[in-house]
Amino acid sequence: MPSSQLDRVKAYAVAAGGDLRLVQGAGGNFSVKTHDVMWIKASGTRLSRALDEQIFVPMRLADTRAAVLETEDLTPYVVQGESTDGLRPSIETSLHALLPHRVVLHVHSTGAIAAGLGDEPGAALDSLPGWFDTAVVPYAKPGVLLARAVLAEIGHEPADAPLALLLLNHGLVAAADDVETAERIVEAVQQAFAARPEPADAGTDAGTDGWEPLHPAGTLTDDEAAVLRLGPFTPDASVFLGAVPFTTRADPDPTSLVATDDDGSVWVRTGTGADEVEIARSLVDVARLVRGARATPLTPDQVDELINWEAEKWRRQLKR
Ligand SMILES: [Zn+2]
Repeated sequence: MPSSQLDRVKAYAVAAGGDLRLVQGAGGNFSVKTHDVMWIKASGTRLSRALDEQIFVPMRLADTRAAVLETEDLTPYVVQGESTDGLRPSIETSLHALLPHRVVLHVHSTGAIAAGLGDEPGAALDSLPGWFDTAVVPYAKPGVLLARAVLAEIGHEPADAPLALLLLNHGLVAAADDVETAERIVEAVQQAFAARPEPADAGTDAGTDGWEPLHPAGTLTDDEAAVLRLGPFTPDASVFLGAVPFTTRADPDPTSLVATDDDGSVWVRTGTGADEVEIARSLVDVARLVRGARATPLTPDQVDELINWEAEKWRRQLKR
């Protein structure tokens, strides 16, 4: 018997969740719609755990759709059941519900983030294979505002043709009527925009002065290191690494968790959490993939609204 779309989404969640170039920490969210129910990843859960624990929450699709542009409290629309206790639908539920596609995959793809930071994201999309539609979506705060920004780009009654959305300063949404097609969109985008290999591991070099090595000498050029020090490029960078994610080893900002050194190596403060390290690594990857000089971090106001946001506070609490 063929496995259900939900089973296939779970299988891909494990694969994508194990690929640091697509998913870091509890980031990314997948959904699948079956009849009148939408299964969406729960906030704060890890895609890589999809086969080990319940990470998908069933939502009443029609009611959820009717509510998502008005409220971020979607718990009342969860289908009640014994295994969903304590799970809260993803902050991106609005976006997933409003897209008509049966399968929606949202990942923090390093290639997509880098393409969005490049000089001409629209032109970059022209280099993708032509079998799916594409759109560039300006940055908006995750949740209702992001869903509205997407509809502003693709129309309020979007078609269900295969679709890739390049979310500036955020990542990628791939939407299609089946998991395989949506997966192929994710892979096509990553292949197009993540042409260089991932940055190497620092290995077992010893730490020094409260810093642990993350990547070895030669990982970053001076220009790439300077890009990283411009500020947080994504919501996760803001929420997990703060307003000044990257500093220098020579003159460290006391609030920064990550530092670059003159030899192109990258360091993290001793004791930095696993999610923070994964996000730092992905940003180093992004900096090596960006083409052009336009890279713009989130503004201080955008960072503030993320750090002080109830949904994000809740998500951070889950880690404790
Ligand atoms: Zn996201």
